[in-house]
Amino acid sequence: MSKLSSSYKLKPGKVNRMRYVTHLSCTLCGRTYAPDFKYLTCPTCGETGILDIHYDYEGLKTIITKAYFKNNEDHSIWRYIPLMSVKGIETDSTLKVGWTPLYRGKNLEKILGIKTLTFKDEGVNPTGSLKDRASVVATIKAMEGGHTTLACASTGNAASSLAGNASKLGLKSVIFVPKRAPRGKLTQLLAYGADVISVQGDYKEAFKLSRDAINHYGWYNRNAAINPHMVEGKKTVAYEIIEQLNFNPPDWIVVSVGDGCTIGGVYKGLHDFHALGLIEHIPRILGVQSEGCAPFYKAWTTGKPLKETEENTLADSIAVGIPRNPVKAMRAVDYSNGAWITVTDDAIIKAIKTLGSTEGLFCEPAAAAAYAGLEAALDQAIIDKDSHVSVILTGNGLKDPDTIGKAIKGPVKLDNDLDALINHIESTHD
Ligand SMILES: *Cc1c(COP(=O)(O)O)cnc(C)c1O
Ligand SMILES: [Zn+2]
Repeated sequence: MSKLSSSYKLKPGKVNRMRYVTHLSCTLCGRTYAPDFKYLTCPTCGETGILDIHYDYEGLKTIITKAYFKNNEDHSIWRYIPLMSVKGIETDSTLKVGWTPLYRGKNLEKILGIKTLTFKDEGVNPTGSLKDRASVVATIKAMEGGHTTLACASTGNAASSLAGNASKLGLKSVIFVPKRAPRGKLTQLLAYGADVISVQGDYKEAFKLSRDAINHYGWYNRNAAINPHMVEGKKTVAYEIIEQLNFNPPDWIVVSVGDGCTIGGVYKGLHDFHALGLIEHIPRILGVQSEGCAPFYKAWTTGKPLKETEENTLADSIAVGIPRNPVKAMRAVDYSNGAWITVTDDAIIKAIKTLGSTEGLFCEPAAAAAYAGLEAALDQAIIDKDSHVSVILTGNGLKDPDTIGKAIKGPVKLDNDLDALINHIESTHD
């Protein structure tokens, strides 16, 4: 089939792909900026002035139709490039990010008594988490701006993801991790050749040192909340869910929340597709936090402003005491008529075992937290059993085997002896 006959005519590098970005606006003061604005946050509001990127939906409607997707042979996040804030240079040189599977969870549907359950398995992205959707965009934006080094602070996944994606494009990465970053993630970072600084403190401190170093050296800043292009990468997960469901959106999408960039991206993706007339309603979004670190949940339930909290959970990827993307995250739940919920560490560990043993999905704690959130929301009748729920599983279980291993029974130890084996099997199986 000739590529020219498809409606996917925008080949990488041939056109200015940012033609549909109309402007940027500050989520705090509303000031607007040109599409190629060189700062990542609003100069008037400073670091908390997170920017939002706006598109010309009327113009996009002329090319982004269901037929556009049907004919699109690019099975990576770049299939959505006209809806993104990158120019398109080098996008054919990146790792393959996105177009992860959406599984129907039939076994858990039966166990939970829920009508339809789907799982978006982000753990199969190239570095094992949803963070690749943002990192790959960061590497491209860095190249657009002529940077050769990128930096970020991360609880682990953003870091390993940035390191892997940077490596593929021949860029350097400097990563600031908190003291308690899990070994799996650290090992991965080091293998990707990043410069890793283990800040002897928590994530908040790693974040601050990264910011100061970035200001000092002028590296490209991949700190997800600060950098508005990261949400534009993460939003593609929502596009994929909708496409994979043949444009029949679920009733709810469930996702775990740390900084708030992922949930903000989920909403943004749904908002875009709604604005383009591709879906008739926006699914409700359930934001899941860990009980030991739940600043969003607390702000939402008390109606008070977001307050710094302890980072007291084994789900390291969502152990974020000062979320850096509060406005987009709160909006995601408010505008979608969604809800916030918390889960305990015990429920998270249980969820890891449940997902592994019933659906063949192996998750790191922060990913399983989303599923634990679904169980809690069914219990509390926040989500009706007559619904279709899509749960985003944000990261792979191999990221953090130490934590998971502690909660899981070890193997049976036997000598090389068939009788002993038979004895064991007969006594444990029926
Ligand atoms: C980063 C991350 C999250 C949360 O995303 P935020 O943008 O920080 O809210 C959830 N799960 C995993 C596995 C992550 O790596
Ligand atoms: Zn502002």
